[in-house]
Amino acid sequence: LHFDSQPHLVIVPSPGVGHLIPLVEFAKRLVSLHNFSITIAIPSNIPPTKPQRAVLTNLPSTIQPLFFPPISFNDLPENPKIETIIILSVTRSVPFLRNLFKSLIGKTHLVGLIVDHFSTDTFDVAIEFNVPCYLFFPPSAMNLSFALQMPSLDQIVAGEYRDHPELIQIPGCIPIHGKELQEPTQDRSDDAYKLLLHNCKRYRMADAIFLNSFPELEPEAIKALLEEEPGKPPVYPIGPLVRKDCSENEERADCLKWLDEQPKESVLFVSFGSRGALWLDQITELALGLEMSGQRFIWVVRKPKDETVTTMLFNDQNEKEVSRFLPEGFIERTKNRGMVVPLWAPQVEVLRHESTGGFLSHCGWNSTLEAVVNGVPLIAWPAYAEQRMNAHMLTEGIKIALRPKKNEERGIVEKEEVAKVVKSLMEGEEGKRVREKMKYLKNEAERALGEDGCSSKALSEIALKLKKTKIGN
Ligand code: UDP
Repeated sequence: LHFDSQPHLVIVPSPGVGHLIPLVEFAKRLVSLHNFSITIAIPSNIPPTKPQRAVLTNLPSTIQPLFFPPISFNDLPENPKIETIIILSVTRSVPFLRNLFKSLIGKTHLVGLIVDHFSTDTFDVAIEFNVPCYLFFPPSAMNLSFALQMPSLDQIVAGEYRDHPELIQIPGCIPIHGKELQEPTQDRSDDAYKLLLHNCKRYRMADAIFLNSFPELEPEAIKALLEEEPGKPPVYPIGPLVRKDCSENEERADCLKWLDEQPKESVLFVSFGSRGALWLDQITELALGLEMSGQRFIWVVRKPKDETVTTMLFNDQNEKEVSRFLPEGFIERTKNRGMVVPLWAPQVEVLRHESTGGFLSHCGWNSTLEAVVNGVPLIAWPAYAEQRMNAHMLTEGIKIALRPKKNEERGIVEKEEVAKVVKSLMEGEEGKRVREKMKYLKNEAERALGEDGCSSKALSEIALKLKKTKIGN
């Protein structure tokens, strides 16, 4: 039997694309700079989706993607939260991972298991086979800091976080109201909360934690994370890792051709991540607000959210015909300065385009980092998961975003507010300030990833540590 002595890693991202993207980028860097070979083993509850396949195309031959068989969930209570589906998909795939380990162990020099923040049940397999396990944390440093504290907060805070009278203190972060914490923490009786807490408790089992951020972006939060503390694994900031291109379309997308025709930094890109959808009345207000702002825009529109569908996420069977969800005449009235893209846009290419001058974003961490590396300032419009925390930090802390205010009674942002914030970002003084800060961070991001940059150095340290691993005792 052929034994490959090249150091080999198994990477397990949780379902979806949001976590797959940075882990694939991480894998690419390890392979190209440090000569590893890697298996990316992907659990899911449904067959591979188009966006997932797109992320996995054009990989070097030393990275092998592998989809585990879809997990079924007939036994769960109705409408489980998305985090429940994500985490349990991984947990129920552990037997597949065990088989994979069995088959790899005789054939490769397996030096580590690297998994994301929802996938720590896989650590059991690594421990069984005496292989070190590592946590790759895709969201922000602030989130990691919160996650490491979650087990103790769970003890300290009685009742729901959103009812807690004091602001929540997270080391190195500006204090935050309980209602802004990530979604699954908002209902402590739900399985999603229990599963999240279970994972957070296991972070300390990792031999090290790799973080997709960099010190200039989150100085205080990262400083706090780097402080040694008994039981806390060492933290290595290795970001910002983002995709260089979307590579799903061989032909250049229409929206990019349209961007070619627009003035420099004049277009606002509007998009809510891989699974963001708005309520119908919010779609209407956003449309009218964009129209009122008089600014140019590209808007990725999806079917409105709907009470019955909470787990739409990985479903790419969504409707392409979106104009019927928009106010009557909207497309016609804005056709000279706006473009509606159904479902999915080549976001990375759009943000990199010099005509793009702003990004109205749900503040998912990949989107945030993609904005940073391209120097595009943000309008923070959090939708789900940990995005309210991100929005809070980006607006109040780092100051690279403007945040529109909701009409609390209606629970939506109204058109006047949309128009005001959009204009302010694209033309106003406030917009100028966040744009300058963004440009500064763009340079810093480049530096961090450059040859002598801090993120590259951290990666070299990690590679060295991984290669030193002796297995099989
Ligand atoms: N994305 C894209 N086109 C779209 C929507 C999303 O290419 O129309 C990509 C985006 O560039 C980002 C990822 O999908 O890399 C979304 O990740 P993020 O962490 O921002 O949000 P999530 O979808 O995980 O909530």
